[in-house]
Amino acid sequence: MTLTFDNSYARDLPGAYLRLAPDAAPAPRLLAWNAPLAANLGLTLDESDAASWFSGATLPPGADPIAQAYAGHQFGGFSPQLGDGRAHLLGEILAPDGRRFDLQLKGSGRTPFSRGGDGKAAIGPMLREYLISEAMAALGVPTTRSLAVVATGEEIWRETKLPGAVLTRIASSHLRVGTFQFFAARGDKAQLKALADYTIARHDPALATADQPYLAFLDAVIGRQAKLIAQWMGLGFIHGVMNTDNMAISGETIDYGPCAFMEGYAPGTVFSSIDHQGRYAYANQPLILGWNLARLAETLVPLIDPDPDRAVDLANDLLNGIASRYRTEWTTVMRHKLGLPGEDAGDAALADDLLAAMEGADWTLTFRRLADPAKLRPLVEDFRAMEAWLPRWQARAGDGVAHRLAQANPAVIPRNHKVEEALAAATAGDMAPFHALLSAIQQPFVENETFMLPAPSGFGSYVTYCGT
Ligand code: AMP
Ligand code: MG
Ligand code: MG
Repeated sequence: MTLTFDNSYARDLPGAYLRLAPDAAPAPRLLAWNAPLAANLGLTLDESDAASWFSGATLPPGADPIAQAYAGHQFGGFSPQLGDGRAHLLGEILAPDGRRFDLQLKGSGRTPFSRGGDGKAAIGPMLREYLISEAMAALGVPTTRSLAVVATGEEIWRETKLPGAVLTRIASSHLRVGTFQFFAARGDKAQLKALADYTIARHDPALATADQPYLAFLDAVIGRQAKLIAQWMGLGFIHGVMNTDNMAISGETIDYGPCAFMEGYAPGTVFSSIDHQGRYAYANQPLILGWNLARLAETLVPLIDPDPDRAVDLANDLLNGIASRYRTEWTTVMRHKLGLPGEDAGDAALADDLLAAMEGADWTLTFRRLADPAKLRPLVEDFRAMEAWLPRWQARAGDGVAHRLAQANPAVIPRNHKVEEALAAATAGDMAPFHALLSAIQQPFVENETFMLPAPSGFGSYVTYCGT
């Protein structure tokens, strides 16, 4: 068995974490193991090591468990200290291709950052993160990955007693906008610079020798995040809690809490039980992108230029470009979804007009069925606007579009009612529905009647919860 650690964060950034061990799970039992991901990472383990190591029951040799410090704006309000309240970074491993990944346990016990929380997680939410993150990966969206979910054998208290679990998360890093805010809020410029230099070396090594490395770094993060949010929008993905501590510098989707995929298209869709104002509603995500990146920019100002006015001007120039960069990325995503060859100046407007014509229609299936009027019609309640739009699109899309639609638009996403069904069964001890759903979402472009249909009307409106 092999797991070779090289823990650069712990080595290079003292003051950015606390060192402490995860809780030892009393009776670890492997519920889900991501064999293809393990193979990509060059991990060869037997299942008993996996259950023990990936629950905190024992530590793999070379692990140096820490809880990372970070701050963050939560729903717009600043908390100068959040940090890993129920997660332990075991360390970093290098894949055979040389890429570095964090290996983090989530649900592995209290830390000094836990505040009122118990540091634990129930198997439902951990399997949920596993499913949704693996769906995102299969859909080609940058994301943290899930290596394992292990039932701990412990019961935890939520509204009722639930079986506990630990998720093992693989990430290019867990550096967040909130990590930068942590040091910026303390006015600790030396630590902030150490963090920025570490992050650049890890994620953007080519920028270390740029004329303006910190400005170039901000530019790179803006580019990655604009692209990421455009991909979310294309898939109808709603993150649900886009706090600055949940925005990764790597450009990966991170922290699958109250997230869900929209079914009927409605720009104001919100699933999270705590998002009363709709701050993180579907159509607000591109605005929050800019808001969060402005918070990152603020932390970098002291590093960008010794003259604060000049530093602010330079950062503002980049921030002012976010909306148009996002619009460009979104247009690229929509061109692909609409099966449009090449580029035309009217493409963004064509996409906008479809959205106006498809309110209420299933986001996922509508795009897949655009070229098939018989299948499209039942999805769209009032077909008149669609009727006017379709010939414009057909004229622009040209031949072979049906094939391009099927390649660009998934048939299967993790439908909320199917996810709930799988998690309820798993909580009751039956993992079969989870594995069936997982295998369907791992092949999202393969039509699958059982998993591709919208929720039956009796399912009602869907609500998701944070931190359970
Ligand atoms: P999130 O909303 O998932 O980004 O979490 C926000 C903060 O709450 C982070 O500092 C988490 O570590 C912490 N947290 C969430 N759930 C728990 C829990 N059950 N126990 C302790 N801390 C938690
Ligand atoms: Mg979080
Ligand atoms: Mg969370």
